[in-house]
Amino acid sequence: MLALGIEGTAHNVGVGIVDEKCRVLANVYDMVRPEKGGIHPREAANHHAEMVVPLILKAADIAAIDLADLDVIAFSQGPGLGPCLRTVATAARALALTLDVPIVGVNHCVAHLEIGRGVTDARDPVLLYVSGGNTQVIAFARGRYRVFGETLDIGIGNMLDKFARECGLAFPGGPILEKLAADGGTLLPLPYSVKGMDVAFSGMLTAALTLRRSGASMEDLAFSIQETAFAMLCEVTERAMAHLENDEVLLGGGVARNRRLQEMAGRMAADRGAKMFVPPGELCIDNGAMIAWTGLLMHRAGVRMSVEETVVDQRFRTDDVDVVWR
Ligand code: AMP
Ligand code: MG
Repeated sequence: MLALGIEGTAHNVGVGIVDEKCRVLANVYDMVRPEKGGIHPREAANHHAEMVVPLILKAADIAAIDLADLDVIAFSQGPGLGPCLRTVATAARALALTLDVPIVGVNHCVAHLEIGRGVTDARDPVLLYVSGGNTQVIAFARGRYRVFGETLDIGIGNMLDKFARECGLAFPGGPILEKLAADGGTLLPLPYSVKGMDVAFSGMLTAALTLRRSGASMEDLAFSIQETAFAMLCEVTERAMAHLENDEVLLGGGVARNRRLQEMAGRMAADRGAKMFVPPGELCIDNGAMIAWTGLLMHRAGVRMSVEETVVDQRFRTDDVDVVWR
C-alpha cells in the first residue's frame, strides 16, 4: 500500500509518501520564512499554493513511483491556520479526484504521535508534543488520544521564536537559541508556570524580554529560557506518565529536535525506569510523511470520507478523533 500525505497547517508545506511498513519513501517540504514579523496566514497559504504541486511531483520522483500507484491521499485537516488548511485540502481533493483514489483528512497532532510509533520502538507512549503553535501532553486512553496537559497560552516554539525575533534574530529562533544556550551558564529567574497539568509561556516571554532590556546576555537568557521551560514540560509529562503508569515517553514537534530537551526528558524517563523515543528530526517537524502514515492507518482500518467530509477544522481537537485503528 502507498499513501501520499500533504501537510500544511502553518508555515511549512510538506509532501510525504510512505508504504504499509511505515517506510518513508519521500518526505519533502518548503517553509515560509517571513522577512519581517510573524507568519501571515494569507501569505503562507499563497506560498503553499505555489509550492504544493512541485512538491508532489518531487516526492513521487524521489520515491520512484507513479502517482497512479497511490492507494490513498491524506491531508492535514486541522488544527491550524484557516487559509493554509484550505489550500492544502483543495490540493488533496484535486489529486484524489484526478487519480480516483480515496481521500482522508488527518488530525495534525495525532499524526505527530503516529509517526513516532511508526518509526521508533515506542508502542503506547505518552507524547510530549512541542511545536511552534502547539504544546500538548497526549496519551491513548479508552479509544482516543487524550490531552493530559497543554499550554494555556502560546506554544513553546512560538515563545522561542517570538523572543528571538524581538531580540533581532532570524526565524526560526528555536535552533539559534539552542546554540546560544550552550555558551550560557547563569540561571536567571524566569516565571515557572505549571498549573496542574498545564503550562503557560507568555509570562516567561515578557520576563525574558525585560531582562534583555536591562542588559542580560543572550547566552544566559537562552540558557535560562531552555532550563526553565523544558523543566516545566518534563514535570507535566512525568505527572501524566505516573498517572497512567506508562513507561514510554515520545517526543514530537519541531522543538523535540532540541538536544537539551532530549537530554532532560531522557533523564526524567531513566530516573523512573522508563524509556524515551525521538523520531529523526525531519519527522519531528511538521511533515507530509506523518500525514501519509496516519492516513494509511485510518484507511486500512476502514475510515472513508466523502469530499463533503473533508472540510477543514481550524480548531480540530486531538480527542475528537475516534482512533479506530488501535
Ligand atoms: P513545527 O511547528 O513542529 O514545525 O516546529 C517548528 C518550531 O520548532 C519552531 O518554533 C522552531 O523554532 C522550533 N525548533 C526547531 N528546532 C529547534 C531546536 N533545535 N530547539 C528549539 N526549538 C526548535
Ligand atoms: Mg506540528
